[in-house]
Amino acid sequence: MTQIFDRTLLDKLNALLKSIKKAVVITHVNPDGDAIGSSLGWAYYLCKNNIETTVITPNRFPEFLKWMEGSNDIKVYYDGRKQVEQIISEADAIFCLDFNTLNRIDDLGKYIESMNKPMILIDHHLEPASYFYLSFSYIPASSTAELVYRIIMELSGTKNIDTSAAEAIYAGIVTDTGMFSHSCANPELFIIVANLMECNIDKDKIHTLIYDNFTVDRMMLLGYSLNERMVVLPEYRTAYIYLTCVELDKYKFQPGDTEGFVNYPLSIKNIVLSAFFVEGVNHIKISFRSRGEFSVNKLAREHFNGGGHKNASGGRTLLTLNETVKLFETVLENYKDELLEN
Ligand code: 5GP
Ligand code: MN
Repeated sequence: MTQIFDRTLLDKLNALLKSIKKAVVITHVNPDGDAIGSSLGWAYYLCKNNIETTVITPNRFPEFLKWMEGSNDIKVYYDGRKQVEQIISEADAIFCLDFNTLNRIDDLGKYIESMNKPMILIDHHLEPASYFYLSFSYIPASSTAELVYRIIMELSGTKNIDTSAAEAIYAGIVTDTGMFSHSCANPELFIIVANLMECNIDKDKIHTLIYDNFTVDRMMLLGYSLNERMVVLPEYRTAYIYLTCVELDKYKFQPGDTEGFVNYPLSIKNIVLSAFFVEGVNHIKISFRSRGEFSVNKLAREHFNGGGHKNASGGRTLLTLNETVKLFETVLENYKDELLEN
């Protein structure tokens, strides 16, 4: 297996792990499978090293990730700010997983910034911030969970990874690669998966727990979105879906229900850019996906206050839903050449 992080960096991490007693592992807002899987996998390793560890998310995470061992102990900042702040204030180090700038964790970022504790990054998104004490950033990785696996392997070998930690890591990999349909060109990833399977994970069971666990309302919301709220713009090889709060309420929206909606327009022949706009409490949340060379990271950074990966990014606006969709349609003109030549 190729060593992707240099020995000096790994040695510094090792030294840090030997010197700390308490840690927190924090992941991004609207946590997905990789956010939760990588965080629980890393927390498992810290606990193995006798470091008392708490996983923290800014807001709640989807029901279909709650089967992972340790997920019940995750602390949600918006469900108890004081308690979470107390835990962070007692921690000797802050591990930041699956995000690379503090603005990806909303208000929690402001609190952490004020704490002045060593922050260690483990992440695979573009353009990481420079303020981390140690930075394990590797853009070509399939997922942060893959990086967690590689770091554990480099530090101590993986024979001690137990089944539940292997399941969490596998969940991160399988969700961030869209069930191995993208971001997994490196054959070594499949060696990692094979190793995880040696840890006795039940891959089929995990698949069912993540992907065959929807409510009827969620399925109806998907049907409604595709039937009534999808706009196709063949002249830009683009399609998008938009949903209002009222529509979400009508289908009894739960966190995670719209996960994956953005991928559907992208499976239309000739479409290379897909967007999904959804009304939040005080902002519009946007997901972008693309095929080939078109960079949604650039689009999200330039116009929608966001970022992520080249082919999968997100952003937000403080405009209305209509204004946001209009802005999107307007800026598409700037990218027309790139969209058509893709
Ligand atoms: P999703 O569309 O699934 O929410 O996010 C797609 C990718 O973009 C993920 O890797 C996610 O971390 C990143 N992302 C989502 N929203 C934002 C955002 O507002 N800002 C930045 N920088 N990245 C985002
Ligand atoms: Mn990820």
